[in-house]
Amino acid sequence: MAEMFDPPSSFQVVVLSGPSGSGKTTVVERLIREAPVKLVKCVSATTRPPRTGEIEGDAYYFLSPEDFAARRTRNEFLETAEVFGAGYWYGTLRSEIERARHADGWAFLEIDVQGALRMMEIYPNSLTIFLEPPSLAVCEQRLRSRGTDSEATIVKRLRRVHEELQLADRYRHRVVNDELDHAVGTICQILSDQLRT
Ligand code: 5GP
Repeated sequence: MAEMFDPPSSFQVVVLSGPSGSGKTTVVERLIREAPVKLVKCVSATTRPPRTGEIEGDAYYFLSPEDFAARRTRNEFLETAEVFGAGYWYGTLRSEIERARHADGWAFLEIDVQGALRMMEIYPNSLTIFLEPPSLAVCEQRLRSRGTDSEATIVKRLRRVHEELQLADRYRHRVVNDELDHAVGTICQILSDQLRT
């Protein structure tokens, strides 16, 4: 039987997704600092190697493929996804939702669209937000200015952005990241409206 449960109304699961180039990383950092409610960022597990500056247990729990698979078998994950088809796995640990609950905050997940769709099944009352780039052209420009990806990767990422945008209307809220302050302000408003319900 499908798993489905919702925590008490004082607790919320907030899911934010945004395609590459949507400016998600900066928005997330600002939200953690400025949101009208305590957001506890759920640290995902991944099999991808750490990038420079990424700290274990902060950016991610960096697991070997064997450890990831073993935890999956032990049902430790709420959802897992192979993101980007690069052979790396990502997953939300059940224990992270519990950590947020015990810290008296709302669980805040920054995960991809596949993971978000799964979380919507498990937590039908979760607050789901899709962060949209203002246009594909802006997205492409942001990806190029980052200077970290090859042309082939950029093309692949843009194709994926296009696919993800098709699923944006499955989220409860869509916020266009045209201007940083505006996007952060809009999401803070969504959170305070939720606090009042
Ligand atoms: P990156 O490798 O750049 O940190 O993340 C790549 C993608 O993986 C991002 O779109 C991010 O939202 C997604 N992601 C990170 N953690 C999880 C997770 O636990 N589950 C899912 N489904 N996606 C995740």
